[in-house]
Amino acid sequence: MMADDAQNIRRKIIHIDMDAFYASVEQRDNPEYRGKALVVGGLPEGRGGVVATASYEARKFGVRSAMPSKQALQLCPHAVFVRPRFAAYKEVSQKIREIFRRYTDLIEPLSLDEAYLDVTTDKLEVGSAIEIAKQIKDAIKTELQLTASAGVSINKFVAKIASDMNKPDGLTFIGPSQIAAFMEKLPVEKFFGVGKVTAAKMKNMGLHTGADLKRLTEDEMTKAFGKAGRFYYQIVRGIDNRAVQPHRETKSVGAEDTFAYDLTQLDEMNPELDRIAETVATRLERYGLKGRTVTLKVKYHDFRQITRNQSVSTPVSSAAEIAQIAKQLLAIAATDDMKVRLLGISLSNFGEPQRKTDQHTDQLRLF
Ligand SMILES: [Mg+2]
Repeated sequence: MMADDAQNIRRKIIHIDMDAFYASVEQRDNPEYRGKALVVGGLPEGRGGVVATASYEARKFGVRSAMPSKQALQLCPHAVFVRPRFAAYKEVSQKIREIFRRYTDLIEPLSLDEAYLDVTTDKLEVGSAIEIAKQIKDAIKTELQLTASAGVSINKFVAKIASDMNKPDGLTFIGPSQIAAFMEKLPVEKFFGVGKVTAAKMKNMGLHTGADLKRLTEDEMTKAFGKAGRFYYQIVRGIDNRAVQPHRETKSVGAEDTFAYDLTQLDEMNPELDRIAETVATRLERYGLKGRTVTLKVKYHDFRQITRNQSVSTPVSSAAEIAQIAKQLLAIAATDDMKVRLLGISLSNFGEPQRKTDQHTDQLRLF
């Protein structure tokens, strides 16, 4: 057996991703929105509103998730804008999970509309992962009047890439013999864990596709990209042994940004915190979470890093509340000569409300 084969665990993995989920639920529940360019998210009149999900009719005009709603309105002036109804989406999400559970208990939800399923063995003894994916899609269509796209492969990464290939209403199978050729063609920014900064670095090094990445040895990968380099080395060879984790709790939700040049003034950092808080708030909404602890991460030009956090008794989830706390923490941590290359905000402490006696944590805690 080849060394690579020995390390490569083969499972039957399905990645299911609902098509334009929030918008599709709105179009299902409100017949007047059907066939229309529909944008679910912040309203364009509001300050800082962003698109959560756009219907396919709106996507034709270039409207995308996370885009400012104002920009969406410019691209698609006839679009209908509605505020999200997360309680409704959560309920539909639970019904989708009940459909999954007919086949397997190994379900790892990534958000309300996306999950990995391990069907290496399935409860109904269907056997074929492609057939299970087809049956799940059919059940979602007939029972919930919604469409999903499915990706089927031997691991999580390839299954997720596959589900995105034939949207909407797609079913894509990438078998073991196709994986190598498929990975070689894949642009570097599509690889799991490669953010925009890493992608830019790769392109600077002349690395544009999986085939380019594959030319680097494991040592060269680690030297260039640190610990993540080893993971990239494996994933470009189609090796991803991460198990589907059914009870993985979301412990924290966050976002961060590395800047093109070092920031030295609070005046330039605060608007960045506003933007990062928007992203965190969007992610929290997607998980239906509110948190009690806000953590600020600051990385300096010399890669020194500090974190500061504050806990509050009333859970927060809005961008404005999160940004306000993060700005306070930054103001306290700030020094005259700081050069900041990265800022990050995360929310945690999603458990049950704290008892009254714990409310002293409301005070600012600096570690
Ligand atoms: Mg989706």
